[in-house]
Amino acid sequence: MEKIRKDLCKYGKLILEKNLAAGPGGNISAREGDYVYLSPSGFALDEILPEQWIKIHLNTGKQYGRLKPTCEISMHLGCYIERPDIKAIIHTHPPVTLGIISAGVGLKPFYPDFVAILGPEIPLVDYVIPAGEEIRQAVVKEIKKYNVVLLKNHGAVSVGETLKEAFTRAWMTEETAKMQAIGMMIGKIRYFTEKEIKDIENLKAEDYRKMLLKKMK
Ligand SMILES: [Zn+2]
Repeated sequence: MEKIRKDLCKYGKLILEKNLAAGPGGNISAREGDYVYLSPSGFALDEILPEQWIKIHLNTGKQYGRLKPTCEISMHLGCYIERPDIKAIIHTHPPVTLGIISAGVGLKPFYPDFVAILGPEIPLVDYVIPAGEEIRQAVVKEIKKYNVVLLKNHGAVSVGETLKEAFTRAWMTEETAKMQAIGMMIGKIRYFTEKEIKDIENLKAEDYRKMLLKKMK
C-alpha cells in the first residue's frame, strides 16, 4: 500500500478532529509524480479506507478505483497543473471561517504566524457554483499567487508542498477566524501594517520553521 494513501487517511481524520468539516463536507488530495490521489465522493473524510482514495493520472485523467471521485476533482487537478510545486490540497467547510467570510469579512494579518504560515494576505473569492468549471477557474486564478483561498458562502482551500503543510494552513485559517471573530466582538483589532508584515517575512527564524513545516511526519 502506498504511503500517500495512509497519509491521506491520517489528515482526513485530523480535519474532522479539528472541526474543519462536518459530515461528508470537504475534499482533499495529494500528488506523487504524475498521479493524484483524491477523496471519494460522499464519504466523511475520516471514514475513507487507504484503498478507497482514487488514483488519477494528472495528464491523461485515467482513473484507478471503482468509487466516484470528489465532485471538486476539476478544481484539484487545475491547481496541480497551475502549481507544479504543490503536492497537497485541502478543501474544507470550516464553520467560523465560513461564517465570517459569508458576512463579507476577510481574514487579515494581526499576529506573526499568520504572515509566516498563511501568507501576507488571503484572497476572498465571491460565491460561484461548486463542483465544476466556475470554481476551478476562480480558485486556480488565486492559487497562482496564494497558498490559502477563501470562498464566500462555501469554505476554504489551502495548498502545500506536503499534506502536513496544507493541513496546517487549513487548521490555522480556522483558528485565525476564531481569533478575529473574538477580537471584532470585543473591540477594534489592530491589524499589522505593511511594514510589520514585511519585517515578519524577512525574519531568519521563520525560514527554519517553514522548513520544518514542509517535512512530512
Ligand atoms: Zn466544498
